Amino acid sequence: MPTPFEVLWQEPQLRPLAPLVLAAWRDGYLTPAELLAIRDTLERASWLSDSARQALLRWLDTDAPPTPRALRTLEREVSGWLSVLPKGQRRTLSGLAAALVSGNVADSQVQNALTLLASVGATFTAEELETRPSTVGAARQSAAGRLGEAEQKQLRVLLDGSQAATRERVRALLAEPEFRTVLGLDTASYREQVLSWLLRAIERGALAHCFPNGLSAGRDVGRFVATFETLALFDLSLVVKFGVQAGLFAGTIEALGTRAHQGLLTAALEGKLIGCFAMTERGHGSNVRGLLTRARYEPDSESFVISTPGLSAGKEWIGNAATHARTAVVFAQLETLGEDYGVHAFVVPIRRDDGTPCAGVRSEDCGHKMGLNGVDNGRLWFDDVRVPRSALLDRFGQVSPDGQYQSKIPSSGKRFFTMLGTLVGGRIAVSGGAIAASKVGLSIAIRYGLARTQFADDDGNETPIFDYLTHQRRLLPPLAAAYAYTFAQAELVKRASELDAEGVTRPDVETLAAGLKALSTWQAVATLQQCRESCGGQGYLTANRIDGLRTDTDVFTTFEGDNTVLLSLVANNLLRIMRGHLHKRPVSTVLKSLVEDVVIAVQERNPIAMRADSSESLRAFDLHTTALRFREKTLLTSLARRVARRIEDGLSPQQAFEACQDHGVALARAHIESYVLSCFQDVARDQPLLEPLCALYGLSRIEADLAWFLENDFMAPPKSRAVRDQINVLVREIAPRALDLVDAFAIPASCLGPLADPEYLKVSGLVREKA
Ligand SMILES: Cc1cc2nc3c(=O)[nH]c(=O)nc-3n(C[C@H](O)[C@H](O)[C@H](O)COP(=O)(O)OP(=O)(O)OC[C@H]3O[C@@H](n4cnc5c(N)ncnc54)[C@H](O)[C@@H]3O)c2cc1C
Repeated sequence: MPTPFEVLWQEPQLRPLAPLVLAAWRDGYLTPAELLAIRDTLERASWLSDSARQALLRWLDTDAPPTPRALRTLEREVSGWLSVLPKGQRRTLSGLAAALVSGNVADSQVQNALTLLASVGATFTAEELETRPSTVGAARQSAAGRLGEAEQKQLRVLLDGSQAATRERVRALLAEPEFRTVLGLDTASYREQVLSWLLRAIERGALAHCFPNGLSAGRDVGRFVATFETLALFDLSLVVKFGVQAGLFAGTIEALGTRAHQGLLTAALEGKLIGCFAMTERGHGSNVRGLLTRARYEPDSESFVISTPGLSAGKEWIGNAATHARTAVVFAQLETLGEDYGVHAFVVPIRRDDGTPCAGVRSEDCGHKMGLNGVDNGRLWFDDVRVPRSALLDRFGQVSPDGQYQSKIPSSGKRFFTMLGTLVGGRIAVSGGAIAASKVGLSIAIRYGLARTQFADDDGNETPIFDYLTHQRRLLPPLAAAYAYTFAQAELVKRASELDAEGVTRPDVETLAAGLKALSTWQAVATLQQCRESCGGQGYLTANRIDGLRTDTDVFTTFEGDNTVLLSLVANNLLRIMRGHLHKRPVSTVLKSLVEDVVIAVQERNPIAMRADSSESLRAFDLHTTALRFREKTLLTSLARRVARRIEDGLSPQQAFEACQDHGVALARAHIESYVLSCFQDVARDQPLLEPLCALYGLSRIEADLAWFLENDFMAPPKSRAVRDQINVLVREIAPRALDLVDAFAIPASCLGPLADPEYLKVSGLVREKA
């Protein structure tokens, strides 16, 4: 007498239902609600004999699930039947069942079974039901089959890009014995340590290298950003101090100054003059146009008088201002002959060589911070400090000796944005620093995960934690993002190097720089939190590096522009570009383009595309591109409509935009994610090594916003479920290559800390030695 379990494969009418049972117990492919619905149908199915029904209900009883042994036996039976089917083809359960009973489908009982299965939306390949996931985990596969030297080199060449030589220079610098983290320093000593690293880097030419063609030819953005990114592999206080000196201080003198300021620039680049960038005030951070510090021109003495009118006009958070800076670039409202001309930058000495304050300048230390304590942030006040007329950085606006103001940009708004636009390099560098910090965190967490074991498998072998699906799920999408942002950043740097005819950064570069800075820094914070948790308690230990990376990058989301404010700016720019298109083009062209967009939307939303969930279609780059573009276009047109309606109702354009600000931020995010994806795809298209990683990035962006795609009928629920499943398939596929993928970052071992060192893990007992 067969047991209720054996009845399943012995009863011909039940045979087509066997895949259903396997699917029910495989990785939660079926939801509890679906299982309940199926049980309900079975209980009412008159076409089933009582014994067959009881057997099936027994198999599907969630309170008393089949034993692993019974499931293994069923798997063996089913895999024998399925082995004849073509591989890789996704089918619904009824499709699989029909294939199993081919030749016999006329049988009405089998037809009944197929109808039942057709109500289950999920789809499977024969292999997914046929075999369990490989029992050889990623860690062991990775140990067995590393990439060859040529393939490793190819990855590294792609990542280092056109600035490979600069990166190598800085890696060589970081290999010098001085560049070692010293733990437990008090704040004052840490600041001195960071200053001495900065001076050493300058001495070794790190700054001069960023000006390859002499001062008059300007800064090489590519070299500057690559230097910044590579220094960020080591100590983030050092990289921020380097950014203040090279980007904010010297960079502003170079971007806003003229020949008269070259002496200052030389001193800054040689490290003889340490400077700071004093823009933010206590009362005005994000709103730079509202700054209160004043610079009043006096024709009699041919000098400007710099003053701080009240408490909220005090300069706040200024890097290098507490101790090390001798000169500040101060942003103040320029006034001459009784007229205001808006915010301009002035070079103001704040300390003498011996460190005592210059007359009329007061400073204060901001104190201990959440991170970046190697940088001396301070406050500054100016009590009628007199500086010569040449202190004005006068590339975009000049004051004659008798006080006449002139500028080739007459509109003060346009002048302000042009001046700020030239400072875009700092924002791009911050993105690069965030991406580099993420790479260090991921390199540590992935290496540790491959070595560290917890819990034993069925054979008694302890499992490397990286072999757990959840571990791969939390580290590999961020790894894909780190690759994606690297390529997006390289493209942005390339565009930033191409200035317009006036030598000014192009508006699209400003938009991308703002948006990429926001998304890459948020991504870094999220990634480093995952890295911290992935290393368990060890991730919390300062000596193991992730602590510093996590706390130091936190403020990257705020300085060089608060992320939310930056995304509002991106959205505003996108609306402006759209309005510009509408004005410039004849109505018929605009309408045609809108119709084309709608056609794309309708094509994508046809019921077949919405449900297409084969592995190939889900991995196809085109699907990811279309999804992200569809989201961006939908958000842009709906935002434009909403803002226009509010303006019609009597709100000012600014009020109307602010009333839809959350929508604008969603649009900005969608725009930047589309850009990042296209940059990654451009590189990965011809690179089999990167194809799965790029597909993972695309799909994980869709997964992160599944609710929106479902809400907007871009996909049907079975497809959204298939997206999740496909990400699991992809992380399993990529996991054995994870070590190669982080090795390609070429991070010096001294920057990775002990958790990435297999020898340390063994001698410290964090990894059990093999018996
Ligand atoms: C460690 C550190 C170093 C720094 N170094 C320098 C430096 O060297 N030189 C320098 O000049 N500055 C520096 N800054 C200042 C930094 O640039 C500012 O902190 C930043 O611009 C934000 O200004 P805020 O702090 O006044 O915040 P606020 O502008 O007051 O913003 C506070 C919050 O309000 C939100 N918010 C503001 N405006 C809007 C809006 N329109 N719509 C919606 N939300 C809004 C923001 O999203 C944010 O969450 C530094 C700051 C820090 C913390």
